[in-house]
Amino acid sequence: MNDYQALLHSTEEYLQALKEMGVQHLSVQRETLSQLSHPIRLAPARAFAPVAKPMVVEPKRPLAAEVQPNAASKDEAMASIRERAGACVKCPHLVKSRKNVVFGVGDIHSPLMFVGEAPGADEDFQGEPFVGAAGQLLTRIIKTMGFSRETVYIANILKCRPDTPGQSFGNRKPTADEMKTCLPYLLAQIEVIRPKVIVALGGTAVEGLLGRVEGITKLRGKFLEFREIPVMPTFHPSYLLRNQALGEKRKVWEDMLLVLERLGAPVSEKQRGYFLPALAA
Ligand code: URA
Repeated sequence: MNDYQALLHSTEEYLQALKEMGVQHLSVQRETLSQLSHPIRLAPARAFAPVAKPMVVEPKRPLAAEVQPNAASKDEAMASIRERAGACVKCPHLVKSRKNVVFGVGDIHSPLMFVGEAPGADEDFQGEPFVGAAGQLLTRIIKTMGFSRETVYIANILKCRPDTPGQSFGNRKPTADEMKTCLPYLLAQIEVIRPKVIVALGGTAVEGLLGRVEGITKLRGKFLEFREIPVMPTFHPSYLLRNQALGEKRKVWEDMLLVLERLGAPVSEKQRGYFLPALAA
């Protein structure tokens, strides 16, 4: 398969996944369509040219497509994705252990979306993402940014709580297979919302969304991109619960200041100074 065929194939797969999720309306830029009808001519390989080996495999990239910004159709599309996710039985072991499918919460018209890893016990019990201890901290971060949970959208890579057989407590990281199986639901949610910025909470969220495995310490603080949407990787709130150092809080806060800047949201001097040692005393 050459590059052009691979692109067509992944586009087809992606559109099929969206259709299965209930997304019915896509608008595609005229430019993109015309590019598709003219196969890319690859330059012949130059003799002795060094071949750069990519460090990471980028996830498949589909057409630049946008769901029509029509409020009613967005609501309908999201309701349909929610219904499908709610009835999902693709991971029988998780179906067996889950109490609820934890789909997502918030405003589907929001310019800001937070993506976490997977529901924990509290989220599984309540059917809502980020309601446990880490969730309460995330809610505080969102409020400190000047928003509320209701004005942003929050979802996870995995919609079911990873099971922990033989254990009545604790969490585990989702497996690569679980993430791959569940990802189409998140992709469909992102396609409907088309946020201006996504915040990826923790290394697993970055791995699930972007296939980047370098680790959150290295990746945080600089925007990455997912289907033309800026993604800010930052520490997961549960990391901040484990490590209460002011410097770590400040790192997350600096990431959020960059997010606010990218959103064009106002930032007060007081907000700029949060978690700086001089102000902490
Ligand atoms: N951690 C997550 O990544 N997601 C949740 O919903 C809760 C905790």
